[in-house]
Parts: sequence; structure tokens; C-alpha cells
Amino acid sequence: MIEKTLIVLKPDAVERQLCGEIIQRFERVGLKIVGLKMMWINKKHAEKHYAAHSSKSFFNGLVDFITSGPVIAMVVEGIHAVSLVRKLVGDTEPFSSAPGTIRGDYSHHSYEYTDNKHIAIKNLIHASGSKEEAEKEISLWFSPDELFEYSTVHEKHVF
Ligand code: AMP
Repeated sequence: MIEKTLIVLKPDAVERQLCGEIIQRFERVGLKIVGLKMMWINKKHAEKHYAAHSSKSFFNGLVDFITSGPVIAMVVEGIHAVSLVRKLVGDTEPFSSAPGTIRGDYSHHSYEYTDNKHIAIKNLIHASGSKEEAEKEISLWFSPDELFEYSTVHEKHVF
């Protein structure tokens, strides 16, 4: 039940200087940060990351956007971490994301608007969609020696 999942704060989160506020959302529910780094990924890395979307019309826009500036990649660990993080992040389309979620609170793009403008939807975050995806993505973004094992105070009260 204890899972690890990948979170990437995309260039819009970094350039809007929202990283601290976003990371706080994950920490305050008791998720443990076990890996964290700033990276400026290249096209090859982005294409591997978004391989599942390679046939989609928005694929090139996704790759261009995530390589347009530095990102913060992190791995967090906790109970049902994959679905818990998706719940905190909110729906993929910010316009549909519920208030109280990260996307719902900090962004408002709709697919209709970004499709019309031919731009990538700016939804601040990537979070793994399943346990299998999380495993694959963590190994793409982090080497084993960049992930850490340690105890948090939550382990006394939560786990
Ligand atoms: P996912 O792997 O499901 O998180 O999707 C990856 C990213 O693709 C999302 O975070 C969005 O940036 C983008 N995306 C997904 N669906 C659409 C869509 N229908 N139109 C435009 N961009 C999309």
C-alpha cells in the first residue's frame, strides 16, 4: 500500500514561482519527499516521458512546453501515493479542476481555449497516472542513488 509516485512541476509552475506553495500541499498531507531536483530536460527525455501520447495531436506542443524551461522533478512516498497525489492535483483540464485542488486553485486554462490558440494547456504539474506508470517514470527521471530512505514524524502517527 505504501507507494512512490513521480511529480513534475512544469515550466509554468517554476516561472510563476509557485513551487514552494505546491510542494507544501504534498508535505502537509504527510507525503514524504524521497527525491527532488531541478532539471532542464531535452527533447529525447520529453519524448520518452510522453511516449504514451505520441500519436496525439497535442504531442509536439507537450514536448515543446516541458522543454521550454527548467522543471522540478520529485518522488513522494505514502499510502496510496499515486491516487492521493492525483486527487490533490485535480483534473487534467484546469477549467474542470475542483477548487481546493492544486490545478483548481492556481490555474484556469480550458482545452477549448488552448486548442484555439494552438498552445499547450498550462496545468502546472505532471503526476503519474498508475502504479505501473509511476515505476516507469521514476526510473526515467531518477537514478537509485538520487532516492532516499529516512523516517518522518508522520511514521509515528500515521503508518
Ligand atoms: P497525462 O499523461 O494524462 O497526465 O497527460 C499528459 C499531459 O497531456 C497533460 O498534463 C496535459 O498537459 C496534456 N493533455 C492531456 N490531454 C490533453 C488534451 N485533450 N488536450 C491537450 N493537452 C492534453
